[in-house]
Amino acid sequence: MSFLLKPWIAGLLLLCPVSCRTVDRGDTNIMIYQLDVIHYRIRMDIDNRDQRITGTTDIQFRALKNLTRLAFNFEGLQIDSCRMDNREVQFNRKEGFLWVVPGNQVQAGSHHIVTVKYSGIPSDGLIIGQNKYGHFSAFSDNWANRARHWFPSIDHPSDKASVSFEITVPAGYEVVANGNTTKTTTLGGRSTYFLEEINPIPTYCMVVGVCDFSIHPEVTPTDVPLTYYTFPEDSLQAVLGFARSVDMVQFYDSLVGPYPYSKLALVQSSTRFGGMENASAIFFPEDSPLFAVGDAGEVTLAHEIAHQWFGDAITQSDWSELWLSEGFATYFSFLYFEAKDGTARFDELLTAARNRYEKQSSKSRPVIDTGYAALADLLNVENYQKGALFLHALRIRIGDEAWFSGIRRYYKGFKHGNATTADFEQIMSEASDTDLKPFFDRWLTKPGIPE
Ligand SMILES: [Zn+2]
Repeated sequence: MSFLLKPWIAGLLLLCPVSCRTVDRGDTNIMIYQLDVIHYRIRMDIDNRDQRITGTTDIQFRALKNLTRLAFNFEGLQIDSCRMDNREVQFNRKEGFLWVVPGNQVQAGSHHIVTVKYSGIPSDGLIIGQNKYGHFSAFSDNWANRARHWFPSIDHPSDKASVSFEITVPAGYEVVANGNTTKTTTLGGRSTYFLEEINPIPTYCMVVGVCDFSIHPEVTPTDVPLTYYTFPEDSLQAVLGFARSVDMVQFYDSLVGPYPYSKLALVQSSTRFGGMENASAIFFPEDSPLFAVGDAGEVTLAHEIAHQWFGDAITQSDWSELWLSEGFATYFSFLYFEAKDGTARFDELLTAARNRYEKQSSKSRPVIDTGYAALADLLNVENYQKGALFLHALRIRIGDEAWFSGIRRYYKGFKHGNATTADFEQIMSEASDTDLKPFFDRWLTKPGIPE
């Protein structure tokens, strides 16, 4: 995600002192490591007459322990029915969780499907309304824990799953989501779009977008279909704004390893962030500089594209290690400009990161920080700028050959999974034949930048 933030986050950062640390951070689920979601099937009907949705989500999972009840993050919408393996089951709701009581004990190792039918107006996570030109639009905006407002899930980055969508909208509107469009049907003035992402992705990256888009296809030299979904009024400018995207995908593909998904959509949307790296469908805000004259958005574009490898394909096991996503995307955006625009541009970006860090860091918190008060607090210069500066210091410490070879090994080993800082440290130590633990600890577990 791009650290260009709407005022609400800046407000949160100011209004959330250490004292509110006891408040529920909404960053966990008791079922983590007790069950493993394998697949979400999300069926949803969205209308342009009001903001109401009707939805049905199948959660296909494997029990990791013997369980007598299950908890899913799900907030706001009315539940119309809840079934498990096609049988009506008891459920109740408490403090943001949907508790499912299966009746019989769920055995460790067994596979099941919980089906939840629901309806209502999502209070967050799926923004249904009008775009800036007054046209009907609906866009998901989940980071960090807002997917729970429009589908039930284990809403934590450690439980990645594949996802399929069946989204019904008034005919004439297009739907974009993660993965490939497998089928489209139209009946009685309504169109249904079927999409599927077969690789496991985190829930905060599972999104749908609905609008009367202008659709512009590009193809990368590695045959990854790259498509722009923008508002018709901004589509010509978007072609200029996104002009380097093909080259960026190609660059990371050859530097790090094969692009992890079967397509990439660049979408003009309603996200509150400067850009949101949703797996295979990056969302940009409707007023992004990418849709205006000039090249002000290209660092954000590179950042969100780099996230497809780091954050999406390799996901941090816990929010406290968000630097594995944001520090990487920040530094890898710099690497694109180093390779393409030269070292002067690279130095400029690094210096700007350092200056921003010096200006905004409290120098009282480490990069790996379990003591945050709210997830939004993690959108800070420790995870972004210091994370990037650390990757650069590590590159200088072990040299380009070991650094790039370690990065490639890390991607190959953890692609479509989760990683911790310890996993990354071990691979980089092996790649450089050096014990890097003290170096990692000094940078990542202590405040400030080492001398
Ligand atoms: Zn980011």
